[in-house]
Amino acid sequence: MPEVRVESLKKSFGSELVIDNVTFTAHDGMFTTILGPSGSGKTTVLRCIAGLEEPDEGEIWIGENLVFSSTEKVSVPPENRGIGMVFQSYAIWPHMTVFDNVAYPLQVRNMPKNEIEKRVKASLELVGLQGLEMRPAPNLSGGQQQRVALARALVYEPKVLLLDEPLSNLDNRLRERMRTELKELQRTIKVTTIYVTHDRLEAMALSDEVALMRRGRIAATGKPDDLYNNPPNRFVAGFLCRMNIFLGKQTDNTRKDLTQIDTTIGSLYCKVPEALKGESEVMVSIRRNEISIAREKASGENVLTGVVKNRLFEGDYVEYHVEVGKDIVKVRDGGPQTTLEKNEKVYLSLPPENCYVIEKAEALAVE
Ligand code: ADP
Ligand code: MG
Repeated sequence: MPEVRVESLKKSFGSELVIDNVTFTAHDGMFTTILGPSGSGKTTVLRCIAGLEEPDEGEIWIGENLVFSSTEKVSVPPENRGIGMVFQSYAIWPHMTVFDNVAYPLQVRNMPKNEIEKRVKASLELVGLQGLEMRPAPNLSGGQQQRVALARALVYEPKVLLLDEPLSNLDNRLRERMRTELKELQRTIKVTTIYVTHDRLEAMALSDEVALMRRGRIAATGKPDDLYNNPPNRFVAGFLCRMNIFLGKQTDNTRKDLTQIDTTIGSLYCKVPEALKGESEVMVSIRRNEISIAREKASGENVLTGVVKNRLFEGDYVEYHVEVGKDIVKVRDGGPQTTLEKNEKVYLSLPPENCYVIEKAEALAVE
């Protein structure tokens, strides 16, 4: 299966630049996800790859084939790009049966009837819809309609599968099940897949690689666990990891290999990466589950006092929103007896090894 390579893509709608120099590669046979907030340009990138939208600048390669180039004046029509696509809305035809919906892409390609029957059967089996060939499309559940859309995208054995938020119209339980099935299916047929979603958990659960988008640009690319464990910038820390992030100024005070940083929630000793040692203003980020919360003052570095403003019981853990100075620190406590009450005074410990110092870069803030 080919890789998909997008080079320096630009696209404006009117005066609005919505894709700003996007470069990334979806590797051969891998599951790559474009993750980003609504409006960040994910769908536009996917439509450019499919050939449904014409970029202003840049190149798109599918394997050895240049399918779009602004300088070479190349623009291969969608039907010749070897792509299968599934949309959020499913876009299946209500007046047709399951069979006719799935057979459609083959019928328009004038494939012989017996070959069509064979392929439709195989495709429906892949998505677990065997036996439902004659069912009219409106008599299907949401999950089944989604499977029909998937079977239709796979029926002419595309080399690349593009999926635009395909699970977002399903209820939670079904979404989780389809997530697992989709991943297994992709692993089985090894089709190079580009998946678009705004859902960070979905992206992490499904993907071999993630490209994070923010305001028309790629903010980071990498394996989900690498990005999650070592957020390379403020956007990844905020959007993907949902970390607490505070502005701070580095001081000259050091203790062993830790530097004191005066942040908006108080003074914190942190390990500053080499590249940020000269920066006066930085951001300090920390995960919700790496802060400990208690009624009694703890010993050690980076202990702050605050007041509980909110307590959210989430089953596996309790999330506390604690006011520290003018800021809110979010803390997840998975302890067995977390009974802190609203308005109670508490102590927070932020272990230095869990405080990540990152670049201030306004351009990478999470809206
Ligand atoms: P996402 O899929 O990440 O939510 P989109 O790619 O759909 O983002 O949209 C990115 C930006 O481009 C948005 O500001 C959106 O309003 C704008 N946009 C998308 N399609 C069109 C269009 N056909 N005409 C004008 N503006 C568009
Ligand atoms: Mg979209």
